[in-house]
Amino acid sequence: MWNEVYVEEDIKDHPRTLSILKKVQKEALLIEKFDDLWGRSKKPYLQKRDSLNLFLARKHGQLLKLAPDAYGSAGEPHYYFIHAYNCIYECQYCYLQGYFNTPDIVLFINHEEIIQEMEKALLSHPGTRVWFHAGEFSDSLALTHLTGELELYHDFCQKHPEAVIELRTKSVNTRELEKLTPLPNFIISFSLSPNEMARRVDLKTPSTSARLKAMHKLYELGFKIAAHFDPIIFEDQFKARYQELLQTMQELKLTEELEYLSLGVVRFTKEVYRDAERNYPDSVIHTGPMVKSFDGKVRYHRPMRMWIMNSIKELSIQAGVKPECIYLCMEENA
Ligand code: SF4
Repeated sequence: MWNEVYVEEDIKDHPRTLSILKKVQKEALLIEKFDDLWGRSKKPYLQKRDSLNLFLARKHGQLLKLAPDAYGSAGEPHYYFIHAYNCIYECQYCYLQGYFNTPDIVLFINHEEIIQEMEKALLSHPGTRVWFHAGEFSDSLALTHLTGELELYHDFCQKHPEAVIELRTKSVNTRELEKLTPLPNFIISFSLSPNEMARRVDLKTPSTSARLKAMHKLYELGFKIAAHFDPIIFEDQFKARYQELLQTMQELKLTEELEYLSLGVVRFTKEVYRDAERNYPDSVIHTGPMVKSFDGKVRYHRPMRMWIMNSIKELSIQAGVKPECIYLCMEENA
């Protein structure tokens, strides 16, 4: 899977590095700092199909990032923690295609330092529930069989009931998770689209049916689960397609069990919009009138967004999702 594997000199003997190297079975090339090489020259996003390099590194600087107000359920602080850059999947709308100069993957191995930062964040919000989201710059489960950090974050949740961790994923790689005990504040959330749409735009990811199966398995094991219908991409049949998806979720008894369901329409920064047009010129993601909106992002105009999201919200409630568990993601005054 990996073309080359690069390892920063000062973490070359770290047990997590050694464990990853043993699993990838590839000789490592030592480098001083990952960003001396990673992203130094432009590597087109679609080259990830033929040649993907792996970097193991220590994350310096900001380990936690405060999420925008409209990111999660309102009224509580939300952070994302940065455990990796880039992703093995290839969703056509992914903002990573324009965000970094390269699709090469970086796995950060200093999880203990990330957790220390999370503990500091808890101290700065006494008496409040604080959310920590993984998966902003990468999928949070897809490579966990390699990276082996889930147990640390799970321990953190066990020790701090006032914290909530969300692992957001399109992966069905639940093997490492299944070794852990379910906790009320350790939530696994799946990004879901109707089957046919996922087949067209979520390239190299497990199908929606496979994701629902994984979700159901985790629910049966007692894990807290959540869902994101995000990005919602307009097509004439969108209501019927979401109804079908919700019906399958209801048959699996998932709709009533969701901790939350977020709804968000497809959106891009100006730069990513340009990259997505170049990379996927015929994609359905470009359908519909797109305008520059309140936060500078390119998306459908507000009446259309609200119509789409309110229609899906109504269908979700009819399928058994509790109304108070549904929120609109990245919307002004939502
Ligand atoms: S799973 Fe997420 S991070 Fe990975 S390619 Fe798709 S949108 Fe991007």
